[in-house]
Amino acid sequence: VLQLLIRLGIGLLFTLFGLINYYGNVADNPITGERQRVQLSVQQEIALGRQSVDDVARQYNNRIDLDPPITQYINRVGQRVVTQSKARKIPYPYQFHLIYDPRTINAFALPGGQIFITTALLGRLNSEAQLAGVLGHEVGHVVGRHGSEHLAKQQLGGALANAVGIATSDGYGGGRQAQVVAQAVNQMLSLKYGRNDELESDRLGLAFMTEAGYDPRGLVQLMQILDSSRSGGEPPEFLSTHPNPGNRVVKLKELITQNFPNGIPPRLEQGKQSFTQNVLVRFQ
Ligand SMILES: [Zn+2]
Repeated sequence: VLQLLIRLGIGLLFTLFGLINYYGNVADNPITGERQRVQLSVQQEIALGRQSVDDVARQYNNRIDLDPPITQYINRVGQRVVTQSKARKIPYPYQFHLIYDPRTINAFALPGGQIFITTALLGRLNSEAQLAGVLGHEVGHVVGRHGSEHLAKQQLGGALANAVGIATSDGYGGGRQAQVVAQAVNQMLSLKYGRNDELESDRLGLAFMTEAGYDPRGLVQLMQILDSSRSGGEPPEFLSTHPNPGNRVVKLKELITQNFPNGIPPRLEQGKQSFTQNVLVRFQ
């Protein structure tokens, strides 16, 4: 009887936590200035992201981060975009991963700073500024906490908060917790962001990459490369998971003109040579 009572008590506590999380968790975002309803704390997002990397790897038959020098290079570019811009205001421990998938042109972010790009997309780029554009855009989704907002809407957030909470406190995370995390990862992998999330990530990505010293035209070129890789009317995965509101390129160009009315300062680099040396020659 005592055991039953304890179990009931624990169940009740979790329900209560879930409710408090849902109604109580309003967070002010120091980067976007938004007041957001998210159920996961930054710490829980980080725990979720770390636990999810293995799930993502499994989805791609463990074909991720196979060539350490390329992974390190992508991380150097990603860290530069984060640490030399206002993205650093929320201290997510970013990790950038390369998925070996030569067909699917895509990049995506999990909450908490785990970011992935496929070899199919990487191989279509030709400068470090374009890569910084991809990574900056994905960092935008992380700091905009778009994944968490989505999970909160799917009402998975409460269960997830408990799951990652438990998993981090005892270091394990039992079967049920693993299941909830896996469910969340599935949601994230098939997630289609809304138009506002995309435009916000474009804006943030553009700001982060230029603060970090990259030529903002890299992000415009990225959109053009994605557009031109439509074959047989089938848009690349990146455009279907990151819907293209048509005038995205126009919006980006407007932003660039606003930010740099006197033209792009020559100190902002494209980094074609270092991209060729670190990526393209390894792909030949
Ligand atoms: Zn996006």
